[in-house]
Amino acid sequence: RRKWKRVMGVLRELEEGCETTVGRLRQVVDAMAVEMHAGLASEGGSKLKMLLTFVDNLPTGNEKGTYYALDLGGTNFRVLRVQLGGQRSSIEAQDVERQPIPLQLMTSTSEDLFDFIASSLQQFVEKEGNGSEPSPVRRRELGFTFSFPVKQTSASSGILIKWTKGFAIEDMVGKEVTENLQRALDKRSLNMRVAALVNDTVGTLALGHYHDEDTVAAVIIGTGTNACYLERTDAIIKCQGLLTTSGGMVVNMEWGNFWSSHLPRTSYDIDLDAESPNPNDQGFEKMISGMYLGDIVRRVILRMSQESDIFGPASSKLQIPFILRTPLMAAMHEDDSPELIAVARILKDVLEISDVPLKVRKLIVKVCDVVTRRAARLAAAGIVGILKKIGRDGSGGISSGRSRGDIKMRRTVVAIEGGLYTSYTLFREYLHEALTEILGEDIAEHVVLKVTEDGPGIGAALLAASHSSYS
Ligand code: ADP
Repeated sequence: RRKWKRVMGVLRELEEGCETTVGRLRQVVDAMAVEMHAGLASEGGSKLKMLLTFVDNLPTGNEKGTYYALDLGGTNFRVLRVQLGGQRSSIEAQDVERQPIPLQLMTSTSEDLFDFIASSLQQFVEKEGNGSEPSPVRRRELGFTFSFPVKQTSASSGILIKWTKGFAIEDMVGKEVTENLQRALDKRSLNMRVAALVNDTVGTLALGHYHDEDTVAAVIIGTGTNACYLERTDAIIKCQGLLTTSGGMVVNMEWGNFWSSHLPRTSYDIDLDAESPNPNDQGFEKMISGMYLGDIVRRVILRMSQESDIFGPASSKLQIPFILRTPLMAAMHEDDSPELIAVARILKDVLEISDVPLKVRKLIVKVCDVVTRRAARLAAAGIVGILKKIGRDGSGGISSGRSRGDIKMRRTVVAIEGGLYTSYTLFREYLHEALTEILGEDIAEHVVLKVTEDGPGIGAALLAASHSSYS
């Protein structure tokens, strides 16, 4: 009995540590907007890098022709060909299978990596049927989705700031990304030009805008998390005199690195961060994204097993970092069988914990719930932070003396992608719920989260089209 009480103590402490009241979320919203300002005011002014993308015009639907995209996002990589019909939503896309990047290439040299990419591209192009080939005088044009922090120097060039997601090719850091790819293409005599260098969130925004012109921001919540949005150039103070025809530019926030003292942080987060290869880095991402949620839950279960014997004899598996992947954690969370059969199975198969009573299985589900709910609500606060920064959160109307009821809110669309959002129903529901709580129903009605599919890849091809040297 006493042991059960100790375990309940661990749960209560977790719940308190993860608390996300609306008040707390509003503080996170404000902090996000403040940090966005700071990151736009000066280089290094905030943990938010607020990177310029030089994308000043988003696809409109008038794009026409055949374009290519290369998507290097993390563990997978793929090549696409996109045919654009010249009207909104007239996309025909064809792609190769996603293929994993051979592990040794992730830590090898840039030459090896780009040669692998160019060779895949070459095979893809060689398989093309007649008819899809451009005229012989016209070079093929390519959008390159490269989902790592890049300091762009134009819409088609930029310098790698640092690797993330397990990549470590030292000779690339600080170097021009497009040049490396273009060199590899030229070496294989591929008649192709890199017309756009694109972050995955920017691709998602481009595709979102192509389908729906009210789209002003994009968020990805998958293995990692990031967001971008359309900013007015006069608000980008760190780049004085920046002129664009549209008066705006897409800013890549790199929001995974956001930090604020208002974030509800537990001892599990502190340990996870300290033991990670990048301590003090990507703090927001470590509380939100798919790479980490399963491991936070593992840490809580480990602690409970140390406090008591409710899980039977200690399992050494529980000590292994990242052994509980987020999709399996989600499967336990969403187990709706009365006996919690999936929970029992996953505990046994993954953690080698068997014969746990139903009461304890229910406790596991509760732990998953607390961790996922916090993640989803913080992601919602991040999104409202962006809306606040661009004056789409409805707060402008209040300061000008109107009551909430009669504000004329513009429809605002946020393009969203990533496995955590699209495949994890409870995560998605908690996110939507928090969005409505923070904004209030009247405002939330005008904010639409719209799932785009293949935004990173197709969006890059769209941006190659809008930055084509032939149009
Ligand atoms: P990536 O971010 O790796 O480019 P995705 O956007 O497809 O690719 O996201 C994959 C991530 O989403 C996985 O690492 C995993 O954490 C999470 N995920 C995928 N499916 C599920 C699921 N059913 N439940 C919870 N999380 C999931």
